[in-house]
Amino acid sequence: MSPALSPSNGSPAIPTKSALPYLPLTRPTIDDETIAGVAEVLRSGWITSGPNVKAFEAKLSEYCDGRPVRAFNSGTCTMEIALRIAGIGPGHEVITTPLSWVATSNVVLAVGAKPVFVDIDPVTRNIDLNQAEAAITPATRAIIPVDLSGLPVDRDFLHALAAKFKLRVVEDAAQSFGSTWKGRRIGAFGDFVSFSFHANKNITTIEGGALVLNDEREAKLAEQYRLQGVVRSGHDGMEVELAGGKYNLTDVAARVGLGQLPHLEAFTAKRRELARAYFQQLDAPAIRALGLGLPVADFTHSNWHMFQVMLPEERLALKRADVMAKLQEAGIGTGVHYPAIHRFALYRRLGWGEGDFPHAEYAGRNILTLPLFPAMTAADVARVVEELTAVLVAGQKL
Ligand SMILES: *Cc1c(COP(=O)(O)O)cnc(C)c1O
Repeated sequence: MSPALSPSNGSPAIPTKSALPYLPLTRPTIDDETIAGVAEVLRSGWITSGPNVKAFEAKLSEYCDGRPVRAFNSGTCTMEIALRIAGIGPGHEVITTPLSWVATSNVVLAVGAKPVFVDIDPVTRNIDLNQAEAAITPATRAIIPVDLSGLPVDRDFLHALAAKFKLRVVEDAAQSFGSTWKGRRIGAFGDFVSFSFHANKNITTIEGGALVLNDEREAKLAEQYRLQGVVRSGHDGMEVELAGGKYNLTDVAARVGLGQLPHLEAFTAKRRELARAYFQQLDAPAIRALGLGLPVADFTHSNWHMFQVMLPEERLALKRADVMAKLQEAGIGTGVHYPAIHRFALYRRLGWGEGDFPHAEYAGRNILTLPLFPAMTAADVARVVEELTAVLVAGQKL
């Protein structure tokens, strides 16, 4: 299921049995000033990559403590380009997590390298870095950690591991824009950092992404990979040194991003507040008795991109799909982020099988994302918890 086509993405026309308005899984908050700004860009005569992209990149760079940042049309091509800049290709291995949006490992295949999955830590649901060390071989060139739901992977451990084995790091920080690690912003330190600004992310450009790089040499290469490898000079000079692609962001999209950035802190604060409300509401005897799995209660580092519970499959007569259908009937959108990547046909054909990564498989079957977005209210949270509790209590195994 493509996230872009998910009915949870603000779709208003979903029939439900609830008298209350439909509560989507997520919905972007875009202010009137931004909408007016987009109209201005559309009238300006310059609608694709131009001054707004430059301004957006400058703001992002400022956010990342001055590191070079380039904007792209997705948070997928950013990772593929980072791998290309690092010279990673056929014969190389890249360590990553099986519990992510499939983009994370597809980019490894796209450059001709081999993804090497390492199971997740069932508590954080992020890659288990202790196991990552054991997966390193002489062919390993990089590691792509994912900050699932915005909870950062341990950056101290990560960068010490990378330094010890001389590996590149491509942080898949698609979900962790606005998160921090020990007081430092994700993106402000480390090696490559990739952000996504897809409509469902904490900050959006509708579709889009950004790559944080180490120096101007890498930034120049990123620009070449972004647009057909072209380097221009003078009035008519054009050179092509590498087979780049078509990954540039439009000025219309960048203008949306520029209008989003000033809200980042407030968005994150609101998400944390809602997450706190979830924890409070879920801390009830009926729910504790059910054994519903909760996320790590982190109010320091995480931007709370998602609030994900783990359904207790051992105790339920219902399947996750049934739970989702019942919540849908009650007017509540939910999502699955994500099925375990190694269980997809493409990856099964590459040799992975059931039982390879038990924690990721368990999460892949049972993880459920509940509504969480800045325009939600505490009453919405209470409604979700009430309906979820009712569904689970009624669906217990006898
Ligand atoms: C959204 C997302 C991506 C891809 O971002 P796009 O902008 O949709 O290409 C990659 N990894 C993770 C973990 C994501 O959530």
